[in-house]
Amino acid sequence: MSNLKHVAVVGATGAVGVEMLRCLEERGFPVGQLTLLASARSAGKKMKFKGEDVTIKELTPDSFTGVDIALFSAGGGISRDFAPHAVKAGAVVVDNSSYFRMDPKVPLIVPEINAADVKGHQGILANPNCTTAISLMALYPLHQAFGVKRIFASSYQAVSGTGAQAIEELAKQSREWASENRAWDAAKLDSQPHVYPHQIAFNAIPHVDSFLDNGYTKEEMKMENEGRKIMHHPDFRASVTCVRIPVFRAHSIAISAEFEKPVSVAAAREVLAGAPGLDVIDDPANKKYPLALDIAGRDNCAVGRIRLDCALDNGLAFWVVGDQLLKGAALNAVQIAECLL
Ligand code: NAP
Repeated sequence: MSNLKHVAVVGATGAVGVEMLRCLEERGFPVGQLTLLASARSAGKKMKFKGEDVTIKELTPDSFTGVDIALFSAGGGISRDFAPHAVKAGAVVVDNSSYFRMDPKVPLIVPEINAADVKGHQGILANPNCTTAISLMALYPLHQAFGVKRIFASSYQAVSGTGAQAIEELAKQSREWASENRAWDAAKLDSQPHVYPHQIAFNAIPHVDSFLDNGYTKEEMKMENEGRKIMHHPDFRASVTCVRIPVFRAHSIAISAEFEKPVSVAAAREVLAGAPGLDVIDDPANKKYPLALDIAGRDNCAVGRIRLDCALDNGLAFWVVGDQLLKGAALNAVQIAECLL
């Protein structure tokens, strides 16, 4: 590979794709040529990169000629069907979908945790689930210090985690409630939801991704499955409830973790303060803790509400917030691409 790369972004028009362009630009990724790919619906439209218009092309099997790095962010089916074409054309794929994540031949990377795994790639690298990646930004440094056995967690996930149509659904429902001058106790709208199975505005939906036979959702089990792979910790256990809430951007996760070794708040805080890509915001007496509204748009994740867990041995409870479009998707993908340079 030469110093300047030919980069393709598959799903450039999506919630993640737009952020990928911004990350490539803001981080000064050495882009020599940029190919933007999306569906036929977007072909011919233009997006800006470094002040220049770039015309979007329709994704086809032949889209990858001359491409060095292909960032995929258009859903699992598109990755399944098109990533092999990209690899055949000589590109290295960084995939945001869940399709390849648990494939033993595909490294699953959070660069702050397991960047060394990149070197084992065979053409495809996977970007983890957003809730998992954000949680591990705080959990992994604690694991290194105290040895995590298991966690119990609940997530509070933003609608942008579902993509551009979900952002529009929350906006539309919020406008509908306001424009009809409805009372607080008349929050159930007449319009039907399209993206989620229930109204998301003014609601909390304990249903993210599809349900499995064990009663958990796929999203919930990603924490254990992907967490084991990323942390190289096959015995890690995670019981998670994922909840979609009417926040536009940034996921929050409440975690109770049990460790092998005794843990104190002071020792945990010291470990977390030194962790890369993570800020400690933990001054509850002054109403300071990480908030989705503050963390949205920021590269670093943040942790707060750090306290001893009163129901676990060697347990710590904490609250992690991260912009899932960034650390959970676009930023992490570009960081993986940087590992290839
Ligand atoms: P999105 O906003 O719905 O965007 C989907 C993108 O895929 C659009 O660019 C769309 O292009 C493109 N696309 C759809 N059908 C296509 C086709 N047949 N051929 C080529 N392109 C097609 O979704 P998103 O939230 O950005 O998510 C994209 C992927 O990233 C998904 O796999 C998702 O699981 C993953 N991911 C998302 C997040 C997040 O926070 N949102 C986090 C981690 C991972 P058009 O505009 O032309 O339709």
